[in-house]
Amino acid sequence: MRKSGAEGPITRVRISTSLLPMNADLQRLTELEKIDREASRLTEEVAGLPKRVAAIEAKLAEHKAAVEKAKARIKGNEATRRQMEADIKGFQEKIAKYRSQSSSVKTNDEYRALMHEVEFAEKQISGCEDKILELMIGLENEEKALKVAEAELKTESADVEKEKTEARIRTAEDEKLLAGLKEKRDTIRSSVNDSALAHYDRVMRQRKSALAEARDQKCMACFVMVRPQTWQEIRTNEQIITCNSCGRILYFDPASETAAAEPAKKKKARAAEVETAPEQTEQETTPTQ
Ligand SMILES: [Zn+2]
Repeated sequence: MRKSGAEGPITRVRISTSLLPMNADLQRLTELEKIDREASRLTEEVAGLPKRVAAIEAKLAEHKAAVEKAKARIKGNEATRRQMEADIKGFQEKIAKYRSQSSSVKTNDEYRALMHEVEFAEKQISGCEDKILELMIGLENEEKALKVAEAELKTESADVEKEKTEARIRTAEDEKLLAGLKEKRDTIRSSVNDSALAHYDRVMRQRKSALAEARDQKCMACFVMVRPQTWQEIRTNEQIITCNSCGRILYFDPASETAAAEPAKKKKARAAEVETAPEQTEQETTPTQ
């Protein structure tokens, strides 16, 4: 059972180095971590910008395709209409031919047969005319759809240009900031003790953060308790002490203690009474087994 966050919500308090003299390397590493975090945030942002532009360009391509599709539908409509008109002309020619033949037929049967052909051709014409009317109504809708698609494409094109410009500006700004951070980073790194720096790099690589505040005798990153003697040493901020559990470099922030002074006092009084309670030692990282 973990005894973490027992005193209400944890609020991150900026380390106030003015209250205590801090080990120079510890102070530099604190600063270095801030720089490294900001640099990785900026690097991620720079990497993400082309993806965002690609996504909006894909959307633009969709709109272009929609316009092409609407145009193709209109072309199809017009082609069908032309075909219908040609068909009507063909049937009208047939009717004229049948009528001229009818004047020279010899029998009633032949005449009826021709009139039957005329009737059939007239029905075909009527069908074509219905279809043409349908196509005309359809064309109106298709033209409206094309206008909408073209308007959307226009807006989208403008948005893409705006986004691209913004991405370019943001990238340039980020890269400038990154260059500044790199300079600061190099300066700090060159002044930190080699083994402390190597430890910092190792933990940073594995855990994405290399330092953690120690509060109420606990590492605030992994919430494992530190030994009482180590705790006293951490509180001075005079040396580099690492968490036995997660490896992070621990620092003490007096401001956090001041903020939680009242409840902490009560807790300490309770803790003193139950010093050997199992829940206190369960998460202890010292080799007690
Ligand atoms: Zn830890």
